Amino acid sequence: MQELLGKHWHHLSTQEVLEYLETDPARGLDLFAIGHRKEQFGANILTPKPGTSPLVLFLMQLHQPLVYILIAAGVVTALLNEWVDAGVILGVVLVNAVIGFVQESKALRAIESLARGMSSEATVIRAGEVRRLGAAELVPGDLVLLQSGDKVPADLRLTRCRNLQVDESALTGESVPVGKQAESLPKETPLAEHRNMAYSSTLVTFGTATGVVVATGDQTEIGRINELIASTPNLETPLTRDIAAFSRTLLYVILGLAALTFVVGLVRGQSWFAMFMASVALAVGAIPEGLPAAVTITLAVGMKKMARRNAIIRKLPAVETLGSTTMICSDKTGTLTQNQMTVQEVIAGGTVVSLSGTGYDPKGQLFRDGTPIEPSSDAALWETLRAGVLCQDSRLVLRDGQWQVEGDPTEGALITAARKAGIQPEELIRALPRIDTIPFESQHQYMATLHGNGEGGADRVYLKGGIEEVLKRCDTALQADGGVLPLGVEAVHRQVADLARRGLRVLGFARREVPESLRGIDASDVAGGLTFLGLQGMMDPPRPAAVTAIQTCQKAGVRVKMITGDHAWTASAIASQIGLQGAVDGEGRLLALSGQELACLSDRELIEEADRVAVFARVTPEQKLRLVEALQARGHVVAMTGDGVNDAPALRQANLGIAMGITGTEVAKEAADMVLADDNFTSIEAAVEEGRGVYDNLVKFITWTLPTNIGEGLVILVAIFAGVQLPILPVQILWINMTTAVLLGLMLAFEPNEPGIMRRPPRNPNTPVLTRPLVFRIVLVGVLLLAGSFGLFEWQELQGRSLDEARTVAVNVFVVGGIFYLLNCRSLRDSMFGVGLWSNPWIVVGIAIMISLQLAFTYLPVMNTAFSSAPIGLAEWGQITAVGMMIAIIIGVEKWVQRRWWSRGEGRPNR
Ligand code: ADP
Ligand code: MG
Repeated sequence: MQELLGKHWHHLSTQEVLEYLETDPARGLDLFAIGHRKEQFGANILTPKPGTSPLVLFLMQLHQPLVYILIAAGVVTALLNEWVDAGVILGVVLVNAVIGFVQESKALRAIESLARGMSSEATVIRAGEVRRLGAAELVPGDLVLLQSGDKVPADLRLTRCRNLQVDESALTGESVPVGKQAESLPKETPLAEHRNMAYSSTLVTFGTATGVVVATGDQTEIGRINELIASTPNLETPLTRDIAAFSRTLLYVILGLAALTFVVGLVRGQSWFAMFMASVALAVGAIPEGLPAAVTITLAVGMKKMARRNAIIRKLPAVETLGSTTMICSDKTGTLTQNQMTVQEVIAGGTVVSLSGTGYDPKGQLFRDGTPIEPSSDAALWETLRAGVLCQDSRLVLRDGQWQVEGDPTEGALITAARKAGIQPEELIRALPRIDTIPFESQHQYMATLHGNGEGGADRVYLKGGIEEVLKRCDTALQADGGVLPLGVEAVHRQVADLARRGLRVLGFARREVPESLRGIDASDVAGGLTFLGLQGMMDPPRPAAVTAIQTCQKAGVRVKMITGDHAWTASAIASQIGLQGAVDGEGRLLALSGQELACLSDRELIEEADRVAVFARVTPEQKLRLVEALQARGHVVAMTGDGVNDAPALRQANLGIAMGITGTEVAKEAADMVLADDNFTSIEAAVEEGRGVYDNLVKFITWTLPTNIGEGLVILVAIFAGVQLPILPVQILWINMTTAVLLGLMLAFEPNEPGIMRRPPRNPNTPVLTRPLVFRIVLVGVLLLAGSFGLFEWQELQGRSLDEARTVAVNVFVVGGIFYLLNCRSLRDSMFGVGLWSNPWIVVGIAIMISLQLAFTYLPVMNTAFSSAPIGLAEWGQITAVGMMIAIIIGVEKWVQRRWWSRGEGRPNR
């Protein structure tokens, strides 16, 4: 087995393939073979295509209109022999590009690693044992099991298929699933028609299969195309698009103003050079160059915070959507509940039996009316319990003294129940060996298994599932004495009601004897003629934390709906326990709309009902999609959870698709915007909170940064139009913008969420980023900065100070004003004193560094030469600080007025 490439796997028989790869069709590879092959073929990963190279990323920093202006200015200045200025301008361009480069690559890397961090897993048979392992571990010859929802982990030659359908759009672009089979094909069959192959990265949408790995990593078909792994994630979000558009408009406006300044100055008899520099200063000052980068960085910081709270963002816009989510549609089992199932009651042969004990621990007893019973003496009860062991695919294991389920908790509970009754699962499975399986698919709500009979007697099929599915297949019912009577559907429904009303999840069981000639089963073999055995009712307690999270959401104006495949009454009972709010029925119970009822509603009616009702039960994935659309038609921003293959369309349609990290299929994760690492509803609530926080911080940054630009632009304009000396030079403006954006503004990205963040309504996605009150504040601060710097500059001139000293004062007004205003921007609504200085230590660090830099700017001789600054006295610092404090006081008063105003009105200043 040396050469794998160039083999026509599809043309070989499965026998030949297995022989060539030295794989045992039942046991898979033996462990010693694996290490060797891993050495030979390497890990099963695609070599990442080199992303945007660092050099390109760096050059991109220079590829901005503003930078072009700066470079032109630098060159012109150099031509005019103003070497210091030219050096500073070009130096600043360089430093700016380096800072931008470092920050952007950091943000990019964070986003990339989060989006890609989730490695997929594979189920393999090795040395005769079924195990789950990371897809990267696979080697050629490994025997892989596929089931619906899986992402194919490597190129496989299929050896056995059951109704396998694969979505190969990742490879071929064709999104209609392709049916697969295991028979060999003619040699010249084109790739797209290789029905007996499953290719890496394609998605299993239906059925199950076994296949043997024939190619891994870069040798796979997808590895050869290597286009799937787009090198850089898309960093565009609605907000970044808005800001890009805003920046472009602004650029033209400012260039227009710069040209105007130039002309006005010349007309007024100023020198060509002075006017050129003034126009440059205007452009440099008024353009908010740090804005786009700051947005990306803030979003990246938010993503990291969300990841820490178990919400992993796969698509950047989700960070924004979270802040405006108005509706969360959540699964029940495992998300709102613990997914810790315990069978509490079994109803069989018309009598109720309760079980003692907790968890999956098989310690416990069976009681009828308070007295322990001997379960094997009741045929219906005994068969119901045995069916729970035979018709399932999970295992109980004792780990660190704790009984745990490997597989589906629902099935684990059935094993525990059977063991409490004294059934030994291994023995039973040996006595009735399984021949074939129809696996559980949530849209069919049942599972069936075919068993040979080692006890003597006929082969039989066992079936378990949702009660409707079971009953419609049965016409008789097994009795306690082993006899069979016609099935009384009404009575069973009453028993179901009794269990479900208490929040128990109900599973029905049935069996049928079949001829021995039957070697496999499909849906038609279990369509009818079954004998009903009994019911098992299991408790799945709500997650206590989910109860709190739901309250938090409802206070925050985010409504929560439960969407489940479970029975309507079970769903309604659990929903009441966790405190969902919604329409109630005549008896005060939460109304649960079932999939069947839903199917009868017109689109118009559904829009009404979807809004009103909080619980949706026995819902099919297609109905989930309809529900999302109905809620969106009402103007809701909908977050929807899902785990199965068929949930993908609903996840895509939702404004925010959320997949389960633990129980979710690869298909669901691929379609989702966000993945819950712990499957827990609490993490959705946390993500909403962080989403609001991120958006707040973005608005804070923008509100903080724009006044500096407005102030600087105005200072230049006013100076030229008034025909006086420029209070601030272009290089000084560069200095201000560069240092303050990084050391002051960016620290707002680390601002913790405000305490009231989950007590206000969601942000309306249609309101602009900056509301009118904020625009007013921004302009006000810009004008105050103009007045302060211009005023003190002129005052210094009047005092007979040098031009350099006066300019140093003007520069310091911008910086100190920026510091005071920064503290103010930490809350857009509440007083700066309410926030608490240490709640964001970064702010303190940033301010401290900024002050040191400003002292250097003012007093260091090198800086004096480079930036035409000059030392100033204590009195000047006093005046500068006074201006800063004035700004803080005025904005404080303005906020207070706004608060009063808005607390009477309907909106809020930052909503
Ligand atoms: P949810 O996850 O919303 O609770 P599911 O789709 O898992 O919904 O389950 C829906 C119904 O299908 C359950 O009420 C139960 O009757 C049935 N069911 C669930 N798991 C299994 C299983 N492993 N085998 C057979 N039936 C099942
Ligand atoms: Mg489920």
